[in-house]
Amino acid sequence: MSLDPRTVSFTAGERNVFLHILTGCNLSCRHCYINPAQHGTAMLSREQLAAWIRLFADERRRTNIIFLGGEPTLHPDLPSGIEIARSCGYTTTVDTNGYLFHDFLERVDPHHLDYLSFSLDGPDPAVNDPIRGEGVFAVCTANLRRAVARGFNTSVIYTVSSSTIDHLHRMVPLLVELGVKRFFIQVIGLRGKSAVVDPTAEQQLQVAPEQWLAVVPAVARQAAAAGIDVVYPKVYLEEGEVFECAGRVAENFFVFPNGRVYQCPLCEDHPLHSYEIRGDELVGTGGVNEERLFTLDIPEGCVMNKLLQPDTIAYDDAGQPLHRISCCLLKQRISTAQRAGEHRPR
Ligand code: SF4
Ligand code: SF4
Repeated sequence: MSLDPRTVSFTAGERNVFLHILTGCNLSCRHCYINPAQHGTAMLSREQLAAWIRLFADERRRTNIIFLGGEPTLHPDLPSGIEIARSCGYTTTVDTNGYLFHDFLERVDPHHLDYLSFSLDGPDPAVNDPIRGEGVFAVCTANLRRAVARGFNTSVIYTVSSSTIDHLHRMVPLLVELGVKRFFIQVIGLRGKSAVVDPTAEQQLQVAPEQWLAVVPAVARQAAAAGIDVVYPKVYLEEGEVFECAGRVAENFFVFPNGRVYQCPLCEDHPLHSYEIRGDELVGTGGVNEERLFTLDIPEGCVMNKLLQPDTIAYDDAGQPLHRISCCLLKQRISTAQRAGEHRPR
């Protein structure tokens, strides 16, 4: 097994459908990106859920579907959605906060779901619970153990911020002990709640490039050496690496229950979506939308990052950016197995 991270370019023909089936949640995490003003407060009906899963299915191309919320297990019809997705040929993942409502583990066949992914933002309650809520670590890890015991493939998503980065390395022994197969490391963004609660405080939650580069690749190697597949965002392009915008070269659909469909997750706090679902049909929005932004070439790399998070970019004396920011959908992967499923950046 190679422990060298591999940059996963946007694979030709790959498609990802990030289906938010509701926006409601039992938790109130500090960095939640759900924005009810933009994404609504609806839950898909059972009929909509079935129709929208079928709408994005394409038997000719491998497509990953990721069921999201809010908390997707709050939707009583999620198990039937998983069965429909399977019958459509999707690779299927559910991202949960760990509460697993509606007897999820009892109602879903572990062999019919490719990954059940749990969000944890710390290796213990002292780190995790101030971010995700009191008692959340205990519930999430107990249900993760139950899921592993029932035969589910599990993964964990960890959001790196200035308050969690120093604890990242302690996740490795925990994941081994829990029997987790895959580790997704994410980077905190300035969207949703992070963008509006207290901009000054949240700015401080972001990590500096030097800190990210010093910590994350090394921990990823440790986890891979322990037998866990690891995926983390590229974030900073190296000298000579080509910048690519997923909006131009890949197929990603970020679908919300109010019918908005985005291609870029950084655009989700704005009415810039490329498509809408109307009457269970996918319709282009036209006019000024995110697709216009994808065509702009700037030395800083990602246009939306430059617009939303200009403070993340440092410049030299000649005014040139010190680092180009990669597309937030570009991942590094250290893996022993075939990739299966994607996770959305938070
Ligand atoms: S981050 Fe996820 S689990 Fe936390 S409040 Fe938002 S939707 Fe709920
Ligand atoms: S994050 Fe940036 S590079 Fe990626 S799709 Fe959005 S605009 Fe394009």
